[in-house]
Amino acid sequence: MDLRSFHTPLEAPEHFRHLATAIAEAGLAPVFGQARQSVTEKLRMVGLTAPAAFAGSGEVEVLAQAEGDGAVMLRLVPNAQSDSDGSAFVADIRVLSTTAAAQLEDLVRQKVLTLSAHSWSEARLIDRMRVNLNEDGADASLLNDPERRQRIRELYDDRLRSALARLLGAARGERAREPMEWLRPFADDAETRQALFGNPAIFAQRYAIACRSCETQPHLAFPDRGRAESIVDEVGRTCVNCGENALEIAELYRVSDEYVKAIQQGTWLRSLVADAVAGRTDATWTSRKLGRSELDVVAIYADEVFFFACKDGSIGPADVYAAVRAAEQLDVDEAILVTTTDVPRRTQEILASLGAGPRIYRIISEQSSQAIRDAVQRVLDESAWKYLDRSLADEGTIVTTTTRGGAAHRLARLNV
Ligand SMILES: [Zn+2]
Repeated sequence: MDLRSFHTPLEAPEHFRHLATAIAEAGLAPVFGQARQSVTEKLRMVGLTAPAAFAGSGEVEVLAQAEGDGAVMLRLVPNAQSDSDGSAFVADIRVLSTTAAAQLEDLVRQKVLTLSAHSWSEARLIDRMRVNLNEDGADASLLNDPERRQRIRELYDDRLRSALARLLGAARGERAREPMEWLRPFADDAETRQALFGNPAIFAQRYAIACRSCETQPHLAFPDRGRAESIVDEVGRTCVNCGENALEIAELYRVSDEYVKAIQQGTWLRSLVADAVAGRTDATWTSRKLGRSELDVVAIYADEVFFFACKDGSIGPADVYAAVRAAEQLDVDEAILVTTTDVPRRTQEILASLGAGPRIYRIISEQSSQAIRDAVQRVLDESAWKYLDRSLADEGTIVTTTTRGGAAHRLARLNV
């Protein structure tokens, strides 16, 4: 699903219809307008007049593509902040497609002069988040560094990631490459060896001085080969231990600190969830801090605030309570716990007990990157469809029904 939201200012409510007409001129069918017209005509044929409320309810319009799978949804929204923002009304414009909405978006852009990103309600929420989420979390500098982030993304490769995790479990320290390749986890697994050792960035290499003759364990090691070589040359390759002319350079491998950290601290998972969310919305924040709470990923989509708490490992009661505290602090609509292991019974019970609260709690328990990504996007897509259903429910007023309690209430809640 591809849903893109915008808003545009309107001086007066009647301009909403002009806006709908202008966009419809590009060859889209006004579903509500046509339905109203059809009913009005049929009633007139038998000498009746359509009820005024029916004929006049023009605060919602859906412009559907005759061919294709897209639509443009328009909704008139009063601008509660009109003092500061100028116009008294706003039209939310949503372009959606089950495949790709780019073409429809272009069409809307041609017809609407002042098109701002996000729905009106989302734009206000984003302003508020920018104020609240201004403190970096523990991973912020790492995840914001494009080069390092790219290396973390390599760990989305399930086979590489699990091989590294096993390697870290088997050997933390530095070893010559060959013995490392033949550690138990990899001895019978050539593909995994290739995934690991075929990637030069994964290992930090050092160059040690070793003796071929007495097999002294290498003790002096240098980050650059030239340094080790010049020392060997200085002593004429002579070993101080056995006196043989048998010194040589041994290459030592150890998993680069960055990968150790990305695996052991679950940075890869936070990065993956952030990337999955970014596939749906650009209103997203990764590794932020709010008070004492670390917020892994926060997103605004379909007029809702989402909070993802990630754990590469088992989620226990303490993790749930930390997520609940963060979710309450930020007053999110949905809090989603993402874990790579099975969910313990106790955790399930606690989550179930949260069901009646003001926000939705979910848990995603998946192992493969693709499954995690799909599950994250499914959560967002479900909300988008639910949201679209809600925003089409015409309650006969122009008070927005898009969020629980309405946008004004939400903003009041956030205004702490
Ligand atoms: Zn020696």
